[in-house]
Parts: sequence; structure tokens; C-alpha cells
Amino acid sequence: MSLLVVGSIAFDAVRSPFGERDRMLGGSAVHFSLAASFFCDVRVAGPVGDDFGDDEYAVLADRGVNTDDIERVPGGETFFWRGHYEHDLNTAHTDDTQLGVFGDFEPKLSQPSRDAETLFLANIQPDLQRQVREQCTGARLVGLDSMNLWIDTARESLVRTIGGVDLVFLNDAEVRMLTEQPNLLQAARAVMDMGPRAVVAKQGEYGAALFTRDAFFALPAYPLETINDPTGAGDSFAGGFLGYLASEGEGAADDEGVLRRAMTYGSTMASFNVEDFGTERVRRLRREEIDERFAQFKHITSLEVVPTA
Ligand code: AMP
Repeated sequence: MSLLVVGSIAFDAVRSPFGERDRMLGGSAVHFSLAASFFCDVRVAGPVGDDFGDDEYAVLADRGVNTDDIERVPGGETFFWRGHYEHDLNTAHTDDTQLGVFGDFEPKLSQPSRDAETLFLANIQPDLQRQVREQCTGARLVGLDSMNLWIDTARESLVRTIGGVDLVFLNDAEVRMLTEQPNLLQAARAVMDMGPRAVVAKQGEYGAALFTRDAFFALPAYPLETINDPTGAGDSFAGGFLGYLASEGEGAADDEGVLRRAMTYGSTMASFNVEDFGTERVRRLRREEIDERFAQFKHITSLEVVPTA
């Protein structure tokens, strides 16, 4: 099954307690597609400027991501985000956002993208997410991510957009903020009342929780000695989650076991992403490393003590 992601394609400047980078490839759609590419065919759509060069395309192409629907705007500048992290790596502080070519972006998707069975509306302005949703008539399973900025500035539009998707990925604080409901379980139910059948509440280094109408599942984050840059962890999580679901075919989202494995692949991909800056770790990742870490998750979450070989 093919998977389409629409979201920001960006240059990021990031400072964390462990170092900094002035300008590196980033963006919600980029982190998502690289993670998902380990599981299924991925197409990425979004605008970039003249400053988006062969090296950036190559990062996506090297992972087999289809870039036909990346729209290069002559004279335009690629979306730019500058942020930093203090010692609490769970909170990103935004220092600058320059929309660049996103300012007047009107999604015009090719037929193969409209036909993709799985769609991820990565973090961008919710009106744009809805326009994409409306064009993707072939989508059977649709996920969405958003952020506090849009809850603050475009809440009504975001709620409408959420009404047209199956799965919502948000930080736990954003789930509470969106619904004005302090209790996370009730807040997740309130999001499901808007339309979706499942909510994933991401909790940074504490892991993630999955809420459906009749089930609950939670997973810790993989314990890591080295975390350099949390940027893109949420998108990598969603990429692992939806990439795996897409690889399981039609009806996968109705199977509780598949959903639990999707949570585990999501956490696995997020854990690799944060080990190095930007896309650096995921670019050199091998499939065997994903399988090893997935197996480790079984160990660290089992109620039975399984002897190690
Ligand atoms: P996350 O997975 O939440 O850490 O997402 C990180 C990515 O989101 C970065 O690579 C940024 O380029 C991108 N980003 C930051 N702010 C925005 C925004 N307002 N709209 C779209 N993408 C953004």
C-alpha cells in the first residue's frame, strides 16, 4: 500500500544542550517520510524554494521516497524553523518560523498521490491539511499531527480538519489544550467525539499512549544513554506507526495487535531519530537495527522476566 505525506519540508536551526546546527534538512514531512520508508512506499508532497538543492533531494531519494510532488517554487525560500531545547528535552522552544513558500502554497497533487491508500497530514496549517484531505479521494486511512501554534491561532479550522481523519497524533499537553480537558482519558475521548477513531498522545521521554473507543495501550520511550536532538521525534513516531500500518494492508487499523505493534515501531523510529541531529541518524539506519530494538521493546515491557541469551 502506498503512503502519502504532506507537511513541512524545511531547513532547521537547532540548539540543544549537546550541540547545535545552523541549517540542516528538517520538516515534519521529511522526518515522517524517512521513518516510514523502512516499511512501505512513500510519497512526499509540499513546497520548497530554490535553496532546496540536489543534496536535500538525495536524502529522500536514497531512502526510496518519491519526490515527484515536491513543488519547487522559483525565487522562493524553503520553510525555516529555528528552535532550542533546555535541559528538559521534552519541550521545544521556537525562536523563529519563516513560512517562505508555505505562505501561498496551494496543494495540487498528482493522480498517484491522490490515489494513495494511506495519508498523513503532517504538521502544517489546518486549512491546507483539509485541502489535501479533500483531494485524496483514494485514502482509506488518514492520520494527522498538529501543534500548539494551530490550536492557539486556528482552532476552529483544526477541529474541522480532525473531523475528517481516522487517527490523531498529538503531544499529551496538546490533547488537553485542544479539548480544554485536564484529564487525559477524557480529553482523548473528546478528540474521538470530533470524528477520529483513535488518538495517540505522545509524552516525550515518557513514551506514548494509544486511546481507542474500547481499548488503551501505553509504551515507555526506549531508554537511551545518548539523546542529541529531539526535533522530529513526533514525526518519526508517526512515520513508523503509519508506515507499519500501511504495510499490513486494508483493515490493519481495526486489529488491536497490529495497533500495538505500530506503537512499538513508532517508538523505535522516534528513539533512533533523537540519537543524532536532524535526519543524521535515520539516514544511516539499517533495517536490522530496527528489528533489534523492536525485540528489545518486548523485553522491557513484558511482565515475565525473559532470560537473555
Ligand atoms: P516534531 O516532530 O514535533 O519535533 O517536529 C519537528 C519539525 O517540525 C521540524 O523539523 C520543523 O521544521 C517542523 N516545524 C516546526 N514548526 C512548524 C510549523 N509551524 N509548521 C510546520 N512544521 C513546523
